[in-house]
Amino acid sequence: MEKKFASVIIDIAIEKLDRPFEYRIPEALRQEIAEGMEVTIPFGMANKERKGYVVGISDKAAFDEQRLKEILRINQKAVSLEGKTLQLAAWLRRYYGGTMITAMRTVLPVKKKIKESTYHTIHRQAEAEQLQEQIGKLNPVRFAARIRLYEALLGADSLPEQMVKEKLQVSAAVLKTAEKEGFIRIETTRQYRAPKAAVRAGHPFSGLSAAQQEVVDRIRQGMRQPEPKPALIRGITGSGKTEVYMELIAGVVAEGKQAIVLIPEIALTFQTLMRFYARFGERVSVLHSRLSDGERYDQYERAKNGELDIIIGPRSALFIPFPQIGIIIIDEEHETSYKSEKVPKYHAREVAEYIAARDGAQLVLGSATPSLESYYRAEKGTYQLFRLNDRFGGAQLPQVHVVDMRQELKEGNRSFFSRKLTELLTERLYRGEQSMLFINRRGIAGFVSCRSCGYVVKCPHCDVSLTQHKDGSLRCHYCGHTQKTPKICPECGSKYIAGFKAGTERIEEDLKQRYPSARVLRMDADTTKNKEDYEHILSAFADGEADILVGTQMIVKGHDFPNVTLVGAIAADMSLHASDYHATERTFQLLAQAAGRAGRGSRAGEVVIQTYVPEHYSIVQAAAQDYEAFYSQEIGFRELAEYPPVCHFLTVQFYSSDANAGKSRAELVAEKLRGMREMKGVEVIGPAEALIGKLKDIYRTGLYLRAKDLERLIEAKEIVETIQEEARQAPGPDVMLQFDMDPVGAF
Ligand code: ADP
Ligand code: ZN
Ligand code: ZN
Repeated sequence: MEKKFASVIIDIAIEKLDRPFEYRIPEALRQEIAEGMEVTIPFGMANKERKGYVVGISDKAAFDEQRLKEILRINQKAVSLEGKTLQLAAWLRRYYGGTMITAMRTVLPVKKKIKESTYHTIHRQAEAEQLQEQIGKLNPVRFAARIRLYEALLGADSLPEQMVKEKLQVSAAVLKTAEKEGFIRIETTRQYRAPKAAVRAGHPFSGLSAAQQEVVDRIRQGMRQPEPKPALIRGITGSGKTEVYMELIAGVVAEGKQAIVLIPEIALTFQTLMRFYARFGERVSVLHSRLSDGERYDQYERAKNGELDIIIGPRSALFIPFPQIGIIIIDEEHETSYKSEKVPKYHAREVAEYIAARDGAQLVLGSATPSLESYYRAEKGTYQLFRLNDRFGGAQLPQVHVVDMRQELKEGNRSFFSRKLTELLTERLYRGEQSMLFINRRGIAGFVSCRSCGYVVKCPHCDVSLTQHKDGSLRCHYCGHTQKTPKICPECGSKYIAGFKAGTERIEEDLKQRYPSARVLRMDADTTKNKEDYEHILSAFADGEADILVGTQMIVKGHDFPNVTLVGAIAADMSLHASDYHATERTFQLLAQAAGRAGRGSRAGEVVIQTYVPEHYSIVQAAAQDYEAFYSQEIGFRELAEYPPVCHFLTVQFYSSDANAGKSRAELVAEKLRGMREMKGVEVIGPAEALIGKLKDIYRTGLYLRAKDLERLIEAKEIVETIQEEARQAPGPDVMLQFDMDPVGAF
């Protein structure tokens, strides 16, 4: 084929431009040009120079050849989109909606060279025994940071300064002191390489347990097949999933292939990083949200050039252009942070499945509480299921107490703290052990419940809780059902029926009144405005600077505090009433994970779950740590109500600054869809005002499509796109549209 014509996408994110324009390829560029290249082209009436991406090349013109303009030049410095990446972008766009440009921006790094910069490495300058001796001499309260530093250096000869500062919360001043003391040396390297690990193996690998080895062996067996099946490891916290991942990775790396490891950023602790660095050294790199564009770009380059074997990061690490991916690991696979909140609203699990199938790589998912989606697939045989049922080294599971808050009220206790929690908390304070208390605030946008019997007002059509609006009405945000807020409980006649109001601040104040001498730390959205705040609070708590950590559900995620022997869920069932069909699943996951946090050290832990519905299966099974029992009940509900994973669900989100335009557009789309023959097998629900009906002066309306067959839903999405395109031609206020395929939360 002679490369005479190119379709070019212009690099601007306006939907209308989301189609390729055709250009002539000048003779001089025909040899070199390839799909995915960035080019400069004349555009519009004034022939302004613009950047674009080549998305197709042909020897025939689709338009009048004479009227086509010519490509001006190829932008050499640009990252060339390889065919694979372009296909991935096209796949993302088709599956999740949005424009080709936004899909391409998702998979491509921003092109930015790093300004020459310096990079610091901390080297240990003393023998381990000397360092150990020095640690013993330091006052553990006053010099906690220095002790943290020295202890880390017992496990590795050298560490990247950035990691020490960020993850260990060791300040520059502390490093200076340590240098003066002669225990460390700080080396400065020019040419910035983003968080490179200059670690030499610390502790040698001690070998897997028999149960871990069996999982590894069986997954390896599967990997020898031409199309390896994704593996799901359901392993309780502390059962050694990370060890299994590392062993599988070691095998892949030995074959000259690369590994991608996804870990929710919030759960990526220093301990986890150290384990990878200690085992794999310099060929591991970490992506995180604080990297600059230049640093990120540099990582992509290193990966492409074969300088890396393993990348650890959040969902975007999937787009690292490794030459030959051998394995993709998704740890804590149930976490909702694996779903992008920006268009295209992709889910890392689905994208990883696509990439793994494309490259013949193994996908491994791990969790103590797998998502219903994954477990469902394992049940159906699409995934292969593995179990790790015991904690490594026989560490104890905690004792769980479920407290019925209705009973507390009946017996005259109107506070947030049950008598059991008060008793155990007091005990911890006496013993000098730590406690964590959390409120589950997920989706607590004003549901109405009875404190006397636990009754929650729900939609008669959708079985999700109704949301209280400012005018006092209760509404369902799926179907729009509206009713008055009852004054007395329809179930038990009590007058204690109202919106539930409890915040972390209230809890903190209450604690300070009850225990004036206790040291309390609070972690919630208010106290973690900056990313560093988060790590700062956690390390202060880890250092024993507080007796009690109060927070939202964010304190539960993947942290080990050996001195924590009590975990309390203040209002465990709040999330149960989120107006969202995931409510039960999220509640179970959170409580089961929280229970797994207590007593990970040598001491046994206790957990208190305070609830108004102690009989609810999400609470019962979380307390029993029985995932399978929970799953079988929840999947029964999903089957009955026809919610994912037994079908697919697509939210069509309409946004407009006009109060009515979004709603009428949604109604128009719904009406058209309902009359269409092509929509057979696709159910149209709504439209209704979104859970957050107005945000930053933008009105939000949701329309919901449901189908058993994903392909039908993708086709329906394309029909909606066409209707939207036509509707936009008509005059009137602008309505923006986004898609959310199989959402992880309410809109
Ligand atoms: P998970 O990822 O399932 O929570 P980890 O892999 O973090 O579990 O293991 C929990 C703890 O047990 C860690 O401290 C880990 O170092 C230790 N551990 C697990 N397996 C082994 C093993 N085979 N040899 C030595 N220590 C292990
Ligand atoms: Zn009641
Ligand atoms: Zn409803």
